[in-house]
Amino acid sequence: MSESKPPSDVVVVGAGIAGLAAAVELISRGMSVVVVESRDRVGGRLLSANSGEASLDLGATWFWPGEDRVARLVARLGVNVHGQYLDGDALFHTPAGAQRIDGNPLDGPSFRFSDGADSLTTGLAALMPAGTLHLNTQVDAVAVGVTIGGSVGVEVQAGELRFEAQHVVLALPPALAVHSIHFEPSLPDRLAGLARVTPVWMGGTTKVVARFQHPFWREEGLSGSAMSHVGPMRELHDMCGPDGSHAAIFGFVPASGGGPTITEAEVCQQLRELFGPQCEPIDVIICDWRTESATSPPGAENLTAYQTYGHELFQTPALDGRVHWASTETSQENPGHIEGALAAAERAVDAIASSVATASPVVPPHAPLAESPTEREPS
Ligand SMILES: Cc1cc2nc3c(=O)[nH]c(=O)nc-3n(C[C@H](O)[C@H](O)[C@H](O)COP(=O)(O)OP(=O)(O)OC[C@H]3O[C@@H](n4cnc5c(N)ncnc54)[C@H](O)[C@@H]3O)c2cc1C
Repeated sequence: MSESKPPSDVVVVGAGIAGLAAAVELISRGMSVVVVESRDRVGGRLLSANSGEASLDLGATWFWPGEDRVARLVARLGVNVHGQYLDGDALFHTPAGAQRIDGNPLDGPSFRFSDGADSLTTGLAALMPAGTLHLNTQVDAVAVGVTIGGSVGVEVQAGELRFEAQHVVLALPPALAVHSIHFEPSLPDRLAGLARVTPVWMGGTTKVVARFQHPFWREEGLSGSAMSHVGPMRELHDMCGPDGSHAAIFGFVPASGGGPTITEAEVCQQLRELFGPQCEPIDVIICDWRTESATSPPGAENLTAYQTYGHELFQTPALDGRVHWASTETSQENPGHIEGALAAAERAVDAIASSVATASPVVPPHAPLAESPTEREPS
């Protein structure tokens, strides 16, 4: 039996950074919002594992100078950040062994989230009123044009739960949205085709974090950065906490089709080849984003049409102006980055706010007066 939730102005699908930022802003503009998230946690591709006292980022790690939306959010939430360690030499890994490069051409100035990148999303989630967020709830259908309390709106189905609203924000990768959500009526062919081929940023990547007793590489004048033509990790970076606390190095294993996830033994072997036989991690965490079904639809690692990012079709709400795209892939600014996700969320919020402002007032008979459209206009 299907259970209907009370209608709201907006249903946000996905509690990653884009979905949460959109929800918090819509709420601050006086709208009623429900956020529906398939995982048992918020954050999406912002994921930090606690190991010892360290928060180790298994998804996004950095933000860069000029990414002002992230900087503003960091300031608003009071999130601690520190600079990426840049000192020392880098290493170059070839089949012949490791070569030391003078200086570190692999890293530029960037910032890290000292308590983990997911401190952004836990911080945003904490700003939402109780009852806004529905975890462990996977959306599987969106129907536009249904009658809700006398007006026309959107019905979002998640298993046995049914959410009704005026607008829906799709804050998940477009390729995943069209793979896992049934739209009624169908999305226009061009839009559905575009979404289907839009790569999931880093969705084919495996991230590896190795933790150490102390940052021994720094004592040897090394930055911890390395580039490898051997693999399995192709690129490595220092990932210590502020002032070298919580010593760690992380690496990326690029998309490699349907190959198996790499093993801890392979990681340790490569670390020894790079940093010498004394290099013994305390532990190794391996996160293969290809296997995260709430991030990457099957075969996502084979999608390569990056020119689709920020496509014009993602900028305009679909299906009677009610379905809004908001994941980082849909952004015209910094797509792929956290900054891009925040920009996409902003665009969706602005479109909803202007639609609410211009819509003829329709007050569902059961809606409390405080939720009348007049009082919901953006401040
Ligand atoms: C390994 C890795 C390294 C990265 N490094 C960086 C970096 O250093 N700097 C940077 O700026 N960016 C980096 N990124 C990218 C960054 O993480 C993303 O840009 C950002 O997190 C995307 O946020 P989003 O909200 O658009 O999408 P997501 O974070 O993917 O959020 C989508 C949400 O939707 C949920 N969901 C999916 N399907 C459904 C459904 N049917 N119903 C309900 N909920 C659903 C998911 O569980 C998820 O919570 C990295 C990503 C990865 C994976």
